[in-house]
Amino acid sequence: MVLNQYRFINTIDWIFPNSKPGIVLPQKNVPITIADYAKNTEHKTQNTKHKTRNTMIIIQLKPKKEESLLRFHPWVFSGAIQKIEGKPAEGDLVEVLDSHRNFLAIGHYQIGSIAVRIVSFENKPVNDIFWNEKIKLAYAMRVSLGLVNPTVNNTFRLVHGEGDSLPGLIVDVYAETAVMQAHSVGMHEIRQTLAQAIVKNVAQVKHVYYKSQTTLPFNAPITPEDGYLIGNETESLAAKENGLTFIMDWLKGQKTGFFVDQRENRSLLERYSRGKSVLNMFCYTGGFSVYALRGGAEVVHSVDSSAKAIALTDLNVEANYPNDARHKSFDEDAFKYLNNLNTLEQKYDLIILDPPAFAKHREALRNALKGYKRLNAKAFEQIKPGGIVFTFSCSQVVSKEQFRLAVFSAAAESKRNVKILHQLSQPADHPINIYHPEGEYLKGLVLWVE
Ligand code: SAH
Repeated sequence: MVLNQYRFINTIDWIFPNSKPGIVLPQKNVPITIADYAKNTEHKTQNTKHKTRNTMIIIQLKPKKEESLLRFHPWVFSGAIQKIEGKPAEGDLVEVLDSHRNFLAIGHYQIGSIAVRIVSFENKPVNDIFWNEKIKLAYAMRVSLGLVNPTVNNTFRLVHGEGDSLPGLIVDVYAETAVMQAHSVGMHEIRQTLAQAIVKNVAQVKHVYYKSQTTLPFNAPITPEDGYLIGNETESLAAKENGLTFIMDWLKGQKTGFFVDQRENRSLLERYSRGKSVLNMFCYTGGFSVYALRGGAEVVHSVDSSAKAIALTDLNVEANYPNDARHKSFDEDAFKYLNNLNTLEQKYDLIILDPPAFAKHREALRNALKGYKRLNAKAFEQIKPGGIVFTFSCSQVVSKEQFRLAVFSAAAESKRNVKILHQLSQPADHPINIYHPEGEYLKGLVLWVE
């Protein structure tokens, strides 16, 4: 996950100018010693190398640097640290104190700009029971929101990092399999505990696949291997999303194998698809295409520059609408494809633009905004009169406002009359922790193009 300290500070200052009455602060002024803590904390890890880590390491902050933690923001930046007592290894649990040595929080230590990812603002044992409780809470929320239904929808995100107060952890569930991704060494070290908690709490899950080779910090002193932590390769890779069938490929697919975050937006697209010709750009596993077919589209074309993605799209279309002549897929570059729509007959009524994150870090922001502008301008240029564009950005560093501005510039350049019909975001199983506004990453606009 990419962060930007300055953006965070600005946002937080805007949300919480000065000090706020009424905010419940974490327990303060609770004297705690290392011995007290060690007594309470039987922190079991898989990795014998770290057997001694229950010795609690103290991180004391510089004066006034406790502000963000008092507002429950779950990161400590390295610049805020006055001193470290002990020699933490990356992934160790550490206790964070303010400059007067009052308890603030407990978190996973890491090397880098974010030095601690907070797992608890309460002073309590962080052990198997603690992690089990967190998973239980996350699952209970999904159940309560009606996202868990064995026959209609058994695809959902069980854990969304900071959004579920589990910084550095992502878990997606596809029918009987949970795919777990660690973004911090702290979560990596407790992967087995987490896997047990998932199987214990989530009735449908029998297999837990761990896929963190590309997501763990690059320099971390570990060599993660992808593989099953519990169970094994399942026979059935099919899972249900809103009644549609998708074949999930967590082994070879991108990220955890499927983009669960577009579920609600795909449903909205379905509503607008009747009788339309639909172009699904950057289709990946063909999610939007299958919904468009169910919505009664006349033509659905799926485009992706990855042959693997096109194969997955074809598989998913086939699983729901076998031999359906309405659908065609194209293994091609998006810009090239859009450029080649020369005649009106070749143009579309509805275009979906869901590209990969153009900016993965702050330095790439300017170019990313240019990229969004260029892509959207192309779509505005090419869409039929009275057409609809679904356009997205999943770059965390691009704000809603910046994305809208890029799309605005594209519209102005195309000289088309463009109206915003919907402003879209991420679904409820990708919650945004109110104290961690950086967790809002998916932005979308549905536009009417006259
Ligand atoms: N819309 C998809 C997710 C898109 S992920 C869904 O709902 O599941 C982004 C996809 O863009 C990837 O499959 C990637 O292969 C594809 N891609 C990246 N660069 C591309 C390009 N220049 N042209 C076409 N596709 C591209």
